Amino acid sequence: MTALSALAELWRTAGDLVFPPVCVHCGGVVEGGALRHVCARCEPLIARVQPPHCHVCGHPFYGEVHGERVCLHCAELAPAFREGRTCVLLTGPARTLVHALKYHRALHVLQDIAVLIRATPGITAYLHGAILVPVPLHPRKERERGYNQSRLLADCFAAAGGTGTRVATPLRRVVDTPTQTALDRRTRQANLKNAFALGTGAGINTAEHYVLIDDVFTTGATLNACAAVLRRAGCLNLDVVTFGHG
Ligand SMILES: [Zn+2]
Ligand SMILES: [Zn+2]
Repeated sequence: MTALSALAELWRTAGDLVFPPVCVHCGGVVEGGALRHVCARCEPLIARVQPPHCHVCGHPFYGEVHGERVCLHCAELAPAFREGRTCVLLTGPARTLVHALKYHRALHVLQDIAVLIRATPGITAYLHGAILVPVPLHPRKERERGYNQSRLLADCFAAAGGTGTRVATPLRRVVDTPTQTALDRRTRQANLKNAFALGTGAGINTAEHYVLIDDVFTTGATLNACAAVLRRAGCLNLDVVTFGHG
């Protein structure tokens, strides 16, 4: 350990003594465990996704499954991308982590999200060497929030993908769509139809593997709208990955 890293460690330990890390989910003290902001009691409640899963949205299937399968939810989606993966189900502490990141400016939880991303089976091979494209926020929304959480997540996914995996931002959100949460799929799709466009001067290299990144897979409408723009721009090899499915 260098003098500098020893000092950094000491500083961190001293910080933990003054401000013991608090679990974002239950408010309890975090001691030990793999995560810094979720306690050892809450951590097992995180529903990590294992195969087999729907090859469009990544939602796990329980029990015996053979071959490629699409979940009931995705059967009507007609995805403009090839395949989708997700890391966790958006329940319990995982949901709290995403909410902390999105709505409470708790950027420190990215540390734990990165740990959960790296622990997702097959994620490195899936992302290796790809260009990761975060779903953009409308500039007004990004100004309001101060950051785009999908962009920050793309950096975590890029680190998990290893050498050659990088982040690019060719997409722009040109329509400030109202919040989609309460709308059904048909209405969402109509609202999103022209919401995204290729940024000025942005180009697609048809030889590259692109992976769209978003925080959450809900109906898939947002990811599909982004995928359609990339496809129209010539993108041939296109997948999606989200941190959570909810
Ligand atoms: Zn807890
Ligand atoms: Zn699905």
